[in-house]
Amino acid sequence: TPVIVWLRHDLRLADNPALYYAAQTGRVIPVFIDDCTTPDQWSLGAASRCWLNHSLVDLNDQLSGQLRIFRGDPLPILLSLVQQTGAQEIHWNRCYTPHAIGRDSQIKLALKSAGIEVHSYNGSLLWEPWNISKADGKPYKIFTPYYRKGCLNAAPPSEPLPRPDLQLFTDEITGSDELQQTPVAELILDEPSWTKKITDHWTVSEEAAWQHLQQFIRERLPDYQEGRDVPSLEATSSLSPYLQWGQISPHQVWYYSQQQGNQPGLEDALDTFLKELAWREFSYYLLYHNPKMAEENLNERFNRFPWLNHPDQCQDWQQGLTGFPIIDAGMRQLWQTGYMHNRVRMLVASFLVKNQRQHWHLGAAWFWDTLVDADLASNSASWQWVAGCGTDASPYFRIFNPVLQGQKFDKDGAYIRHYIPELKTLPSRYIHTPWEAPEQVLTEAGVTLGSSYPHPILDLKQSRQDALSAFSSLKEQQ
Ligand code: FAD
Repeated sequence: TPVIVWLRHDLRLADNPALYYAAQTGRVIPVFIDDCTTPDQWSLGAASRCWLNHSLVDLNDQLSGQLRIFRGDPLPILLSLVQQTGAQEIHWNRCYTPHAIGRDSQIKLALKSAGIEVHSYNGSLLWEPWNISKADGKPYKIFTPYYRKGCLNAAPPSEPLPRPDLQLFTDEITGSDELQQTPVAELILDEPSWTKKITDHWTVSEEAAWQHLQQFIRERLPDYQEGRDVPSLEATSSLSPYLQWGQISPHQVWYYSQQQGNQPGLEDALDTFLKELAWREFSYYLLYHNPKMAEENLNERFNRFPWLNHPDQCQDWQQGLTGFPIIDAGMRQLWQTGYMHNRVRMLVASFLVKNQRQHWHLGAAWFWDTLVDADLASNSASWQWVAGCGTDASPYFRIFNPVLQGQKFDKDGAYIRHYIPELKTLPSRYIHTPWEAPEQVLTEAGVTLGSSYPHPILDLKQSRQDALSAFSSLKEQQ
């Protein structure tokens, strides 16, 4: 008998528990459903949609054109599929956003009462949130004890599963309106033209994810600790969008980097890298225990924070026109590639939330729309961390200075020059502070402040002072 595999954030064949175990039971019907029941504010951003479309094309190719794609409410679609195909079992890998948890438990109940067997697995996390808690049974709030005491003392991540030996169900599926399939080619045709810059930059496939991992272990891991903070270097794995859509699993990343990177001299680099993977886990853990994390401050004291409301300044930030080169380079990297380096994400977030005093929701929403790795858990946890209202947050009074940070991590301005060509020939001495350059230097570099590149939109010192006073007002009100 046929068996349905409902694919979601696990768009791969290798180490896919749902696919692997379903394949041992019968002829597999691989299904993807574009879920129209997702709340509007969490429907996919444009960059994620582009990534998803290309992921589906790759997966469909790997499945010899047999991936069945539907749009709509998953429950009636799955019930109709069961009816049309005679499938008796549905397998899926678990998802962990509040919407997905609620949806899946309802669907599971409904399918079970219709006599269908449901099997769910862990295909996306190293440690599921309910398996890690403090000795008193309460959830951890701070990363280091969560990781060191909780995760590292729990059952180790399992070894990745091989690709399954798949027998696919190839019969035509027709029937009710719910079962109108979306042809794969249509997904790409629907795309707006701007997404081309994303697909020019990335290869979206399971094979590409695997290549990234192998290249990272071979070439980048040895210098990861020093290199990971330098945005002009390609020193990190760039695996985040692949992890988000499941072209690779965290188990594969954990297992192969441990196995192949576990060499004398690499211990610290490996430890740092695995810890980063664990930050992703911690974000999911926080979201699971705080289902409103994407909407509400984890630290309620911030509910009274006097955010400013300057939409124009927010636009300058979005477009990379703040006049602070490292901030503008980061925002332009995001716009051009759908990705931004982690160090620069922290800087642009701090600039928006602290110097511009705009609500972190505005920044999180822009990232949600433009990042190819947009992930409800990591995005909300990271914005709350930078804003100072998270559980394990960077204190609000720690305000990054974009000039000093730029000088430290992009010393000669290679990253800035790449993303802001109008500053390309400005001498390194002024690359982080073009407003300090003498007129003659600007002229020689072809820079006209206020015309070819903006004047700074704010005074760093003053905005820092204002942010600190706003923060102290919270303490006084306590
Ligand atoms: P590597 O350094 O190679 O790390 C390996 C993996 O570990 C990453 O792929 C990622 O899955 C995980 N990881 C690394 N750092 C973090 C972190 N700080 N938090 C959570 N997981 C981490 N990451 C997302 O995946 N999606 C987001 O929507 C997202 N939004 C962010 C928003 C802000 C304001 C900030 C400061 C960070 C955000 N991050 C997000 C975390 C981080 O910037 C990216 O995961 C990282 O830059 C991805 O690059 P990489 O794959 O080369 O990372």
